[in-house]
Amino acid sequence: MKILVLNTGSSSVKYRLFDGTTTLAKGLIERIGEAGGDAGDHEAALQRVMASIDLSGLGAVGHRVVHGGSEFGKATVVDDEVFAVIEGLIPLAPLHNPAALSGIAVARKLLPDVPQIAVFDTAFHQTIPPDGVAYAIDASLAERWQIRRYGFHGTSHAYVARQTAELLDLPAEEAKVITLHLGNGASACAVSGGRSVATSMGMSPQSGLVMGTRSGDVDPTVIFHLHRVAGLPIDEIERSLTRFAGLQGLAGENDMRAVQERLTAGDSAATLAFDVYCRRIKEYVGAYLAILGGADAITFTAGVGENSPQVRSAALSGLSALGITIDETRNARGARIISPDNARVKICVVPTDEELEIAQQATAELRT
Ligand code: ADP
Repeated sequence: MKILVLNTGSSSVKYRLFDGTTTLAKGLIERIGEAGGDAGDHEAALQRVMASIDLSGLGAVGHRVVHGGSEFGKATVVDDEVFAVIEGLIPLAPLHNPAALSGIAVARKLLPDVPQIAVFDTAFHQTIPPDGVAYAIDASLAERWQIRRYGFHGTSHAYVARQTAELLDLPAEEAKVITLHLGNGASACAVSGGRSVATSMGMSPQSGLVMGTRSGDVDPTVIFHLHRVAGLPIDEIERSLTRFAGLQGLAGENDMRAVQERLTAGDSAATLAFDVYCRRIKEYVGAYLAILGGADAITFTAGVGENSPQVRSAALSGLSALGITIDETRNARGARIISPDNARVKICVVPTDEELEIAQQATAELRT
């Protein structure tokens, strides 16, 4: 059965057509609605996608939806009611959910007989227990305004944790894995028996690890201070912490490759950025070892995680007392398992594939 996976952003549509695990076609429609762009609007963009691929035998369309709030713990077939619930979550993801909804609406119109399945970045984390999702703030405010940890990158963490268990031949229902998704966005997740029990992103993708342009964890007083003392408007503070922070804030560039090149050349700002980035990962690894009561494996994934031996090495340095060591020959070579033979905690590098995971979750949902 064929599954079309759509990742609809405000100005782009990424698509990939699967038959089982085989990719039949993929592509990107960019700069939608802009002068000289590939399409005038989302409908024109999806029409282009559908005209370019063979849709015979299409079983479903799987849509990436960033925010499923507290409502969705798994992939869900979209009917009018589900559509309305996702619409109701727009205040939690004002930048992301409207584009996904537009993709779903157009796909329903163009392919009325094909099930449209929403696959949420947040769903995997719905298994985190209450003490892992509640913020210790005024409970009435939290309840009224849906303030809690939701977590993101769920499709990636789910996929990578399962792949790790397979790679190491661990029983999936018992495996304890810490997954580190280090891309432009970055998050850590503690997975026990295939279920998320802790994750570093929170109500939004802003908290936790240091990212390309996002700060990760900061004391909320930083915001009050920038507003009251520095006089910055709230929108400008948000822009600063989401687009001019992280590696970008500390080193003036968001690309880890560039940061590493400057680090090698002895640049002090790049060195500090790299060190802060890696230390934050270590802090979360320590926290999640404690939450899980020890781990079978720690897995690196996404652009930085899959490609930077330096980050992997620095993030897990000095942890041999906890059974965590890296074989630097394997690490440099880019092996899938980079810990020494017989290590207590296996260190793995697993390429993520969020689109394949979306296709598989959509297929599983069709079969229920
Ligand atoms: P996205 O989150 O947009 O999918 P990716 O997962 O592709 O992003 O990750 C992008 C990040 O991966 C960038 O910071 C880039 O510098 C980093 N990266 C890619 N290749 C390397 C490499 N060889 N060494 C270090 N970092 C790398």
